[in-house]
Amino acid sequence: MKEGFIPFFVPSIGQEEIDEVVETLRSGWLTSGPRVARLEEAFRAYVGSGQAVAVSSCTAGLHLALAALGIGPGDEVVTSTLTFCSTANVVVHLGARPVLADIGLDDYNLDPADLERRLTPRTRAVIPVHYGGQPCRMDEILAIARQHKLAVVEDAAHAVGAEYRGRRIGVLGDAAAFSFYATKNMTTGEGGMVTSDDPALAERVRLLSLHGMSRDAWGRYTDQGSWYYEVLAPGYKYNLTDIQAALGIHQLKKLEGFLGVRQRYADLYRRHLAGVEGVVLPAARPEVRHAWHLYPIRLEAERLTIDRARFIELLRERGIGASVHFIPVHLHPWYREQYGYKRGDFPQAEAAYQGLVSLPLYPLLGEEGLARVAEAVADIVRQHRR
Ligand SMILES: *Cc1c(COP(=O)(O)O)cnc(C)c1O
Repeated sequence: MKEGFIPFFVPSIGQEEIDEVVETLRSGWLTSGPRVARLEEAFRAYVGSGQAVAVSSCTAGLHLALAALGIGPGDEVVTSTLTFCSTANVVVHLGARPVLADIGLDDYNLDPADLERRLTPRTRAVIPVHYGGQPCRMDEILAIARQHKLAVVEDAAHAVGAEYRGRRIGVLGDAAAFSFYATKNMTTGEGGMVTSDDPALAERVRLLSLHGMSRDAWGRYTDQGSWYYEVLAPGYKYNLTDIQAALGIHQLKKLEGFLGVRQRYADLYRRHLAGVEGVVLPAARPEVRHAWHLYPIRLEAERLTIDRARFIELLRERGIGASVHFIPVHLHPWYREQYGYKRGDFPQAEAAYQGLVSLPLYPLLGEEGLARVAEAVADIVRQHRR
């Protein structure tokens, strides 16, 4: 991508994915079936978890994991405010209360000390969000959870392939939910996966993912199956289709390759931008393998004459797409009105939000594209420094 517009994201879809989708369409089996089973087993083996259940999105996976843990009215669930809205929305869907916590400015992840301050006798669970693909400080978070008997459901939307102290994300908490949304590190267009080492929890997630029926469609319509099923709980319609799984099977095979390129590009960005004053670069903590889903730089407002919005405009004028992750949950109108959150409640998250800009980072960006982005960033910053 040397000339022309550099989009914020372009998915890497190859002939393998296209062929598998076409074969699926020709097979006559479109909804959850053999390809979903294949993807579940391959994903489970990759992560190293005991169980994996394919779902229609990470949002659905978070919802199901919390539901399977019995979270409901009267309960509180803590998560960081610097996340996508769905992390908190699913808690609301269950009639429980989302309690937001602040982040650390070194990794933009949930600050364990602030998590501890937000606990009440009603706290039942915590959702650590592995921001940008960098695992949270899980030793601290798991210790707090153990001490206060909290469930841990990881929002691993950014973190497929990430590792914490040599262990893949997806085996640390009670459950983890991954996203296969179009812009994530591997994609099925829309889709997700829940992993867990607890067979009973995973079975509950599976049951709730398809109406609470005691047999899935595969069992129901094959020769071995029967017409009979029982509804054991009023479940949801959150299953993944075989058309989507067809994409996922090949995306997963390519994932290590994708992650290698992402790591190399993160290193390249650092090399290009290290000397640029007024910009804070993201850094991997030593005990993690970073999945580099995002490359979030942070503009230091006090050193620049332009704000973040203007910076993104100027990037766009130079033909470069960028994004912001995330507008803190506590600043959204519904959360302000419902829970009384206001500006100033989470100083670190707000300081981060004010300056955060996610630069393009994906395999199809190419080294020349990356160099163009880095050059533009450096140039804009130099022209607008105090
Ligand atoms: C993308 C994302 C989600 C939601 O993923 P879906 O698969 O679109 O439901 C949840 N949390 C975070 C942090 C995300 O970035």
